[in-house]
Amino acid sequence: MILLIFFILGLIIGSFLNVIVYRLRLADTILGRSRCPHCADQIHWYDNIPLFSFILLRAKCRACKGEISWQYPVVEFFTGLIFALAGRYFFNFMDFASFWETGFYLIIFSLLIVLLVYDWQYMEVPILIFWVILAVLIVNFIFVSFSEINMGLDIKNLSIVSNLIGGFTGWFFFFCLVFFSKEKWMGWGDVYIGFLAGLILGWPNILLGLLLTFTIGATFSLALISLKKRTMKSQIPFIPFLAIGTILTIFIIREFPFVLDYIIY
Ligand SMILES: [Zn+2]
Repeated sequence: MILLIFFILGLIIGSFLNVIVYRLRLADTILGRSRCPHCADQIHWYDNIPLFSFILLRAKCRACKGEISWQYPVVEFFTGLIFALAGRYFFNFMDFASFWETGFYLIIFSLLIVLLVYDWQYMEVPILIFWVILAVLIVNFIFVSFSEINMGLDIKNLSIVSNLIGGFTGWFFFFCLVFFSKEKWMGWGDVYIGFLAGLILGWPNILLGLLLTFTIGATFSLALISLKKRTMKSQIPFIPFLAIGTILTIFIIREFPFVLDYIIY
């Protein structure tokens, strides 16, 4: 039941994340009613229900029959899935400390999804989202340190040294890739987000994050090349793999805390 609630919450948030990506691009306000990008017609609330409206309308605008992008239901569905997983791994109804931790991860996951979709569509990193993630990490760190000292709450997801070393590792790794390839393989935006991924995951989890990121990225690129959709030279946005690698790492470490021991030794 709780998982279903998290899934539905994720669908709704996913729908909102689509709006954030779209309006970040237009530098528009986040609030206000959505409009069809083809005919600028206002979208009714009953045509704006995550996942279901897309299916009911058969991917077309009610007013002008213009196509609605697959991006919308896909982002909604995966946000729902990730939220349900977060509910499964972090939420405990009987434990107040888990409320904060769950909320923290839901926000981080949401922001990573925004970065993912934005880079996928526009091959750019919205720097505003970088600062928001950094702010969330700092607020979380302050709250967790404070609650550990004053309330004896035990939230094990943070130790500042591990996170800083992780952040430096992520930053250094991507900095070298960009610097030595002269931006041929990756851009400076990837360096920023590599730094964030390291801060989020900490040391040594960032190693698993990077391993997953490059495995997924390489698999995906090879698949595209073998389908002849891209050549070796064409640029592929990299943040999506980094975001997926980071999110997966958080769940994998939660399920198998000693997975890194097996990889390293
Ligand atoms: Zn329309």
